[in-house]
Amino acid sequence: MNVLVTGGAGYIGSHTCVELTEAGHTPIVIDNLSNSSPKSLERAAEICGRQIRFYEGDVRDVGLVEQIITEHNIDCVIHFAGLKSVSESVKMPLPYYRNNLESTMALCDAMTHTGVKKIVFSSSATVYSADNIMPLSESAKTGDCTNPYGWTKYMCEQILRDFAAASSERSVVLLRYFNPVGAHPSGLIGEHPNGVPNNLMPYISQTAVGKRECLSIFGDDYPTPDGTGVRDYIHVVDLAKGHVAALKYLGSHTGASVFNLGTGKGTSVRQMVAAFEQACGVTVPCKTAPRRAGDLAVCYASVDKSACELDWKAEKTIEDMCRDSWNWQKNNPNGYDD
Ligand code: NAD
Ligand code: UDP
Repeated sequence: MNVLVTGGAGYIGSHTCVELTEAGHTPIVIDNLSNSSPKSLERAAEICGRQIRFYEGDVRDVGLVEQIITEHNIDCVIHFAGLKSVSESVKMPLPYYRNNLESTMALCDAMTHTGVKKIVFSSSATVYSADNIMPLSESAKTGDCTNPYGWTKYMCEQILRDFAAASSERSVVLLRYFNPVGAHPSGLIGEHPNGVPNNLMPYISQTAVGKRECLSIFGDDYPTPDGTGVRDYIHVVDLAKGHVAALKYLGSHTGASVFNLGTGKGTSVRQMVAAFEQACGVTVPCKTAPRRAGDLAVCYASVDKSACELDWKAEKTIEDMCRDSWNWQKNNPNGYDD
């Protein structure tokens, strides 16, 4: 299939371009490079031995998106493009609502005008309400989001459900990611957050490489076995393969469907630090700090539905995630700027 990949130069998008190419699809990327470098796609092309067609542009430019769709005979869209920092969204909510909602609606317009009927959307476990019991199944309660970023995902899901309902031929897959981490095993592509990382894994690897002094563990008095927060970390290559499975699913289903992409297993902050130290042979200095506002004690996925209906399962271990993150970090301490 010819797949329009919005935000394809980003962390998850670049890994997905590799897996799409390796599965025989042709990714065509549009990205405004607001949070990425075009080098990610050059490196992705190096991994798969094939150029990846790239358009620098904004998804909100409906005319440009229509032109790309027509020129490349696009069969399907994977929509990664969006702003993704929870903390930034709290400080500046409007750019988050503008970018994330308007890009999704512009894409729906372009798809309508050109007759493209299939779309996969990057949603997040953050759409689930805080009062659910674990593991989170796709039918768990959503809403009551704790930050504007989460609300944009919740609202985009609704927009896309309505988009699917408006025409019987349309097919929408909403993928709710848990905690994507790791990098391609080649060490050529990976995650490079701007400034101080908010997320655990890049903070650990930047501490290990000496860019940060010490990891603050946000709370060690949660009701978990070692008192630290528990999350469902998923290797970005497994996540990327989940998108290939979603494309296959789109080919034989219409309407809107939602799937969790996680491993179904929880790992605590201390367990992650220990796994990283062991897998990479490095020390990660840590100190205990107060809980971070809005954090849940525990969050992990039920993966039964994606196993049954998408025929997809995460395969990589926590050790794989740590080793591949470290391999990327130590070879590219400044990300694509090196
Ligand atoms: P990323 O920032 O690395 O990639 C997003 C890409 O979209 C960037 O390359 C950015 O330049 C581009 N972009 C943003 N707005 C655009 C616009 N209007 N037009 C064109 N390009 C635009 O983020 P990522 O980690 O690869 O995440 C991809 C998607 O998955 C995002 O929608 C994110 O919200 C979602 N998601 C990510 C995580 C995570 O932990 N990484 C978890 C859940 C969901
Ligand atoms: N965390 C931490 N120190 C950090 C970053 C994160 O202790 O510098 C903890 C955080 O409190 C949570 C877990 O690591 O329990 C995962 O946090 P992350 O921000 O990566 O994911 P999210 O909380 O959004 O699921």
